Amino acid sequence: MKAIALVSGGLDSVLAARVAQEQGIEVIPFHFSIPFCHRSKSDSGPGAGMNRLVRSSLHIPPVIKDISADFLSLVREPAHGFGSQMNPCIDCKILMLRKAKDEMPVVGAAFVITGEVLGQRPMSQYRDALKLIEKKSGLEGLVVRPLSAQLLDETIPEQKGWIARSALLNFNGRNRKPQFALAKRYNISGYPNPAGGCLLTDPAFSNRLKDLIMHGELSVENISLLKIGRHFRISDNARLAVGRNEEENRKLLSLAKGGDYLFMPSSVAGPTSLGRGVFSKDLAMRCAAITCRYCDLDGSLTAEIIWRRVAYGQEEIISIAPFAETDLAGLRI
Ligand code: SF4
Repeated sequence: MKAIALVSGGLDSVLAARVAQEQGIEVIPFHFSIPFCHRSKSDSGPGAGMNRLVRSSLHIPPVIKDISADFLSLVREPAHGFGSQMNPCIDCKILMLRKAKDEMPVVGAAFVITGEVLGQRPMSQYRDALKLIEKKSGLEGLVVRPLSAQLLDETIPEQKGWIARSALLNFNGRNRKPQFALAKRYNISGYPNPAGGCLLTDPAFSNRLKDLIMHGELSVENISLLKIGRHFRISDNARLAVGRNEEENRKLLSLAKGGDYLFMPSSVAGPTSLGRGVFSKDLAMRCAAITCRYCDLDGSLTAEIIWRRVAYGQEEIISIAPFAETDLAGLRI
């Protein structure tokens, strides 16, 4: 019997899939990728590496599908509202289950496994929410949540004997000791910290996202930019991201598109800044001054800032004083 297991890159989802594997279920791990995930999908880079965790825990690589485009409409107006920040958890889970449902006939899966734990999350993991999510996804009775299954209604796979209810678990609430003990039993290590997998639960990121939506700038490309550096709303249709370290400076350079503007100091240490939107010369000077504010001036009153529109390539250089800190606060997103 085959089942799709939704894997997020966190511990619970691989544990749930592994519990099913131990029951003889042929588990096919699926990761539906959204642009708000902190965790690295690859084996290198920040985070635990979703791929590595899934392969080492389940001995099969995950199928990765990017659902960013579908996800964007959820953060504009989620049918079931937001959690404490910009996290539309109920709609997010419905979307992921719908995507899993679409994949079931393709891979020959009879049901879906998730790592949800009853009562663990305030918005989406209470009994009523779990039922609602299942119903709205069109998978009523076909979602097995092995970590809490004994506390939930019997599912079709349990009724039909495809998976034994007695071998499933009764985890409940926010205490994660049972998960850690189970991980030890299965020899699963290198999993990420349970908190902070999703940027939508982060208050600072949520503010930036609200600003993006308010200004009609929501897109996958702009979300990538939101994850990097300090952000400033320069005008109704222009923003500036300022790198905080060398890695962020490099990332900003790599994200720059033809219409963007780049600012960087010519002879002192300082950030790379990326301006996106509609820029006048005055606005560009303002961005140069903001970039100067984060340069290592070492007693100087000004710095030389090089700036250019990426598409044109032609650089200009300006000697400018740092933007006043008091004025900067009002622009910060
Ligand atoms: S925390 Fe983020 S990824 Fe997790 S269910 Fe909520 S919106 Fe989806």
